[in-house]
Formats: sequence, C-alpha cells, structure tokens
Amino acid sequence: MTDTPPAGSERGIPTHASVVVIGGGVMGCSTLYHLAKQGLSDAILLERNQLTSGTTWHSAAQVRALRSTRNLTELIRYSIALYRRLEEETGQATGWINEGSISIATTPDRLTHVRRQEALSRLYGLRADVISAGEAKERWPLMNAEDVIGAVWSPDDGRVSPSDLCAALVKGARAAGARIFENTPVTGIVTRGGRVVAVETAGGTIRCDAVALCAGLWSRKVAALAGAEVPLWPCEHFYLLTRPVEGIEGNLPTLSDHDSHLYIRDDSGGLLVGCFEPLGKPIDADSLGEDFAFQLLPEDWDHFEPMMLKALHRLPALETAEVRMLLNGPESFTPDGSFLLGETAETAGLFLGCGMNSVGVATGGGAGMALAHAITKGHLPFDLQEADPTRFPACFSSAEVLAARVPEVLGKHYEIAYPHRQWSSARGLRVTPLHARWCEEDAHFGQVAGFERPLFFGSRTAPKPSFGRPDWFEQVGAEVDQAHRHAAIFDQSTFGKIAVRGPDAEAFLDRVCSNRVDREPGRLAYTLMLNPRGGIESDLTVQRLSEESYRLFVGTAALKRDLTWLKRHLGESKRVEIADESGTFAILALMGPEASRIAEDLGAGALNALGYFRHAVAELAGVAVRAARLSYVGEAGWELTCEAAQADELYQALRAAGAKPAGSLAQTSMRIEKRFLAFGHDIDTDLSPDDVGLGFALAMEKDFIGRSAVESRRQTGSGRRLVSVLLDDSAALPLGNEPVLLDGAIAGKTTSAAFGYRVGRPVALALIEADLGRDLEGAKVQIDIAGQSWSGTAKTRAVFDPKGERMKTQSQ
Ligand SMILES: Cc1cc2nc3c(=O)[nH]c(=O)nc-3n(C[C@H](O)[C@H](O)[C@H](O)COP(=O)(O)OP(=O)(O)OC[C@H]3O[C@@H](n4cnc5c(N)ncnc54)[C@H](O)[C@@H]3O)c2cc1C
Repeated sequence: MTDTPPAGSERGIPTHASVVVIGGGVMGCSTLYHLAKQGLSDAILLERNQLTSGTTWHSAAQVRALRSTRNLTELIRYSIALYRRLEEETGQATGWINEGSISIATTPDRLTHVRRQEALSRLYGLRADVISAGEAKERWPLMNAEDVIGAVWSPDDGRVSPSDLCAALVKGARAAGARIFENTPVTGIVTRGGRVVAVETAGGTIRCDAVALCAGLWSRKVAALAGAEVPLWPCEHFYLLTRPVEGIEGNLPTLSDHDSHLYIRDDSGGLLVGCFEPLGKPIDADSLGEDFAFQLLPEDWDHFEPMMLKALHRLPALETAEVRMLLNGPESFTPDGSFLLGETAETAGLFLGCGMNSVGVATGGGAGMALAHAITKGHLPFDLQEADPTRFPACFSSAEVLAARVPEVLGKHYEIAYPHRQWSSARGLRVTPLHARWCEEDAHFGQVAGFERPLFFGSRTAPKPSFGRPDWFEQVGAEVDQAHRHAAIFDQSTFGKIAVRGPDAEAFLDRVCSNRVDREPGRLAYTLMLNPRGGIESDLTVQRLSEESYRLFVGTAALKRDLTWLKRHLGESKRVEIADESGTFAILALMGPEASRIAEDLGAGALNALGYFRHAVAELAGVAVRAARLSYVGEAGWELTCEAAQADELYQALRAAGAKPAGSLAQTSMRIEKRFLAFGHDIDTDLSPDDVGLGFALAMEKDFIGRSAVESRRQTGSGRRLVSVLLDDSAALPLGNEPVLLDGAIAGKTTSAAFGYRVGRPVALALIEADLGRDLEGAKVQIDIAGQSWSGTAKTRAVFDPKGERMKTQSQ
C-alpha cells in the first residue's frame, strides 16, 4: 500500500479480512458488492493498479440476456435488474441503456439457429420475436438488409457504461462496509493443508478465510501462487470506432450479424463495429507487463480487414465515415468458451470469478452475486456446472494447449450451434488405450474432457454441419443394430475410476452415497451423491471388490469434480484412501445378444451365470478382466474392466469372436431410448432424485448427505417430472433444450434427444416443470423445434423395453 493512496483508495491494509477479492474489474467490484450485501462487511478488494484499469474500462459493454442454458441466462437477467436499480440505491448512474438487440440471419441455417434462440428465449421467460428483414431494417435504417432473410428482436437487451457500473458497485459495497485498496498488487497466496489462509502484498500479509480471484487475464498467474490451475488465455479483441455518422441519432438497438462475425452499435453518434473473427489472435499475458493499466494493444488492420469488408457490406455508411480508432484490447478466454465460477479443486477457499470470454460485463452482476453466494453459503445459488472450475482436466492447463485453443473460441462464439459440432484445435490431448485400433476402424472422433472418443465408425471425414438428418444417420443405425441383434463393443475407458480403500471405506461411502454400498463383495450399486440440499452432485456405479476396497466409476467429465467432492467430505474418516486409478484401466462394454456366446467362445462361459448388478473376475481369451453385469444401452452384456495395457488384446479377441465397435452416438441413442440419464443433460445439482425418477437409488433407511433435504422436498413436492417423449413423426429432429408444450402452454424442456433406432422414431427426455397434478403417462405433448411444432406422446418409463427384460436376460 502506498503512503499516499490515490483518490478512492483507503489507508491501512487490515491484517485480517473474511474474504479478499483480487482484482478491481467488473467481476471483482460485483463480487465485493455482493459479499458486503450478504453480510461480509469486512471483505476487501485489492487492485494492483486502479479500478477498471484491466479489461473492463474499454469493454463494448453490450448486455444480451440469452445464453445457452437457463441458469447462464438467469445470471444476465439478474445483471440487468441490478444495473437498472443501482442508481437509485447508490446515487451513481450505471449508464444502462435498454434499446434491445436484433440478430439477423442471412442463411437458412442461421435462420434455424435464430428460431431456436427465439424458442429458447420463450422457454427462459425472455421476450423475443422473430421479425422480417423489413422490420429489422426499420429498427436499423443504416443497415443493408438486401441479403437478410429474417431476424430475432430481443427488447430486454441493452448496454451499460462499464466504468460507471463499477463506480456504482463500489459505492454500494463501501456503503455496506467493504474496503478497497488500489495500487496494491497481490504478490503471494499462503496456503496450509491445501487451504487458503492469507494473501501477501507489499504492504503486509492479510489473513483470510477465502479469496475471490477476479484478476481477469492475469488470474492464471495469480492462481499459480496458490498451486491452482486456471485454464484461461488472453486473445486480442477488436472493435472499430467512427466519428459521428449521419443518420445516427440517439441510441439504437445492438445489431448482431453473426454470419459476418460482427456486432454493431451506436457510440457517441458514431458507429462501434466489433467482431468475433473466425480465428482470434492469442497473446501471452506476461508480454503485457506488470504496469498494463488503461492501455490498449496496437491496431492490426490486416487482421481486421476481412471483417471490415463484411462491415462495409452491412453498413454502406461506413464507406464515408471517419474512423476514430481500431480499438484492440486483451480479454481472456477458456478452452470451452464458458467462464470459471466457484471453488478450485486444487485449493480450498480459492474461488474463481474469471475467464469471462467477452461476456464479463453482461454476466458480471449475476456472476458476482453467484460467487459471493458460493463463498458465504458454501454453494452456488443454482446449478452452474457449465462454469464449474473443476470441469477442465489437467491437459488444458498448458500454455501451448491454451494458446492453440482460444483463437477458435472466438470464432465459435458466433458460429451456428450445429448439433455435435467439434473443436478443430487442441485435439489428441488424451486418447484411450484403443486409439490406434479406432483409427484403423475409421472412427470419427469427438472430444470429451480432452479425450478423443469415437462418435461413430466407418468414416473419418467430418460430417457436413447441418440441422437436418446427419450424414452418419445410417452408420449409427447400423451400430445400434449390431448391439441390438448381435454384439457391439463400446469403449468406456474414458470413465473416471476412483479407488476408495481402507477400514472406514464402507462407513465413508455409506455417508456420501445415497444408495446402499454395504453389500457383500461382488455386488455393485448404482448410486447418487447428493448435496445437503438434496440435489444430485453425481451419479456413479460402485463395485465392492473386497471388505475394505471399492472401485467407483464416474462420468468422463466428472472425475476432477467427484474426486474433489469425495476428498472434501472425508471429514473424520481418517482410515480411508482415495486414489485416482483412471489411467490404470480400460473398460470395454460388450453388449448384445451374442455377448453370451462370445464369452463362451473365449473361455468365460461362467460369466453367463452372473446375476444382474453383480461383478466377478474372469479370463477372456487369457486376459484378466472384472466383468460387471449392467448395461447403459439396454442390451445384455458386461462392462469389462482390464489393465489398460491389455485392452488391445481383449479387443482383438472380442472382435475375432464377432463383436464390432460402436461409437458414443449409438450409445447416446440407446441410453435415451432406455431413459438412462446423463449428468449435465438430464440431471443437475438442483434436481432431486425424485424429480427425475431416480428415487430407486435412495436408501432412505440409512443416513446419507442430502437425505433430510430429500425428505422435506418430498413433503413439499417440486412439481417436476422427467418423462420420455416418443415423437410421432420420424422426420422430427429434436436436439435437446427445446420447449415442450402441454395443452398449448410451455410446460418444460427437452433435456436429451436422439433418433431411437430400436423404436424407429425420434425420442426425447423432457423435464416437465409445471405442476400439473396429473398423470403424464400417454399425455400428448408438442416439442417446439426451431419454431415448428412436433407432436409426441409422454411416457413415464423408457420407450424401449421399459421393464428392462432384455438387459437382464443373459442368454438369447
Ligand atoms: C474489445 C472488447 C469488447 C468487449 N465487449 C464486451 C461486451 O460487449 N459485453 C460484455 O459483457 N463483455 C465485453 N467484453 C469483455 C469484458 O470487458 C470482460 O469480460 C470484463 O471486463 C472482464 O472483467 P474482469 O473483472 O474479469 O477483468 P478485468 O477488468 O481485467 O479486471 C481484472 C483486474 O485484476 C487486476 N489484477 C491483476 N493481477 C492482480 C494482482 N496480482 N493483484 C491485484 N490485482 C490484480 C488487474 O489490474 C485488473 O484491473 C469486451 C472485451 C473487450 C476486450
């Protein structure tokens, strides 16, 4: 802390603060404001330069509410309400301008995309209307609308003045007792036993209970001080500013021309034309220097030129406009384009609010509220798993990988959200032991948690992006048929495998798992881990290997999160060892009516006597496996776990005996038909097991985390129910996240969808959220797919083999 603090800063860094917020951009200011409002009046903010001096000051500051999920949208709705009311509360204006936004379409696929957005808006309770090109032009007269074929008008959107917004947040925070120290860089974070205990500055050490890391593009570096990984990397980010242009009076809506990678708004009577170009320019944060404050990067007209040409087409008035500057500022991006919010896996008490992917001003109000909530209450206010810092495996932490991926993140921001679209950059980071075989089988890969996983086989050519029937439709159908009529091999090696061992293993798992795990070795359980609010944190299978040894199988993307959850809930259980053994084993699921014969042929006929939900060791063609009788696809067979090094030998034996590989698209289609749920799609941390029909995984007779909450939720009833929907028309192409209508009104949304090859029609899983108080079995529903209504029938059970007879009957 300097002797003479600048205006707005305060003297006397305290020796203790409940929470230290690092960084005075919009995220830090909003987090501090909300911490103070939530009662932590001794929270402080440390900013190494001046408030807003990083990225926030030069933001284009548009606030567009619609995001890909309800809760991300909810954060921005919260921001809008906050930005509207802060002036009244603090006397400081935020510069909120509510002129709405227009998103134009110039191709049929973009029109489908914007229609899907309009449907989503209605689902999330936002106002949005599809309008004609003529109406769009009326709202933006300077636009060349010749090639525009439709648009969406969103009246609730707007923009804000980022510096004024931060000033208002800071004023509100101070009024509630919080303090701010500018020119105070954090130089160290002290941890003890894996937990944050203090923050170091040149002016002294501050003991604290938690740190909110809101240091923008510098967060990766600051987090390293606490031993935590923060996968973000900056890119240069551009917008053009002109002097006043004739025809612009007052404020206009924000105009988005995503086909041209552009967003456009008025600015002081001139134009502001910004871009999310197809490939951004990464920049190393270290190259900016410690004193990078209120600074910009050099203009780069060569890089901007392709977007400039498109801008000239859309706005002919630009031709004669006088350019004020091509603003180039750094902003941080993450490997999947979503930000980081919540506690890190590596360091307890270190909470992230960073990696804002160019929506930091729009999201900041809500994200700061959510981060403060996580710190003060121990959990986020609602499910935000798309922002969970634990979602990235370590392979995304390296500078090389980040610098390779983030340029593409900018391009994806405005790209049409085609189903199953894939990243082109930073591929091949992790492969399963059978990767070489999958290449020989002409697998087409998709990336999940950094892993390359076969989507389907028979063609390595990338399918043509489309909202129509996909190129791979027949091939995936053939793979489903293979599993349904013969035998297929699904590579499930990407699942997380966690060993839990020790004298207290049973007692510990009994407490964290909702289902019984105290059964004899050789039994397996499908179970949930619930949070104290009764929401689902994870679903997993647990194999008891011996009295004191269990193996847990968790979702591919859930490993880091579940490991963290388990370790943080160890509590008094001292005699338990938790180990990540994911890389040690491969898992091949052999599924289909011929599985029985194949086991016989390979010398493991005894497996046919193994009961459902039991596991046993066996040798298949000389390879030692642990075979578990269960199925994620609804066909009879085993999930075979073997040493990773022997996976190829096992695969070759299965292949020679007649089984053929099937990819994850076939698996998805089959699990949806079987109503098997997937975390992140059909299940989240807000939903209780009863909401989604997983009550069978609750052993209510024992005590487990979340039990009492489940009980009280049962008393009040949530009104939510998860149903299967069998669509009437086989031409319908539901993708998930579409409104579901009952009696003509929106009653819920699809959570997963696919063509169901075994039932010959598209199938969706849908969460019905309206408390209808009636039996939904057989109810007629409509699904709104890009503005078109498709009818279907709701079923309370699986649409295929609802009694599960096929998968439980071994020999066919
Ligand atoms: C050209 C451009 C246009 C944009 N347009 C929009 C838009 O239209 N809408 C929108 O929502 N978003 C937009 N954004 C993105 C938005 O501006 C950012 O997401 C947001 O400002 C990030 O805020 P922040 O608080 O995370 O980071 P920052 O504003 O960068 O704040 C981080 C702060 O941490 C401080 N700091 C770093 N290290 C330390 C340390 N060791 N100790 C103490 N302090 C430290 C820095 O000095 C900095 O002040 C745009 C960004 C750019 C570049």
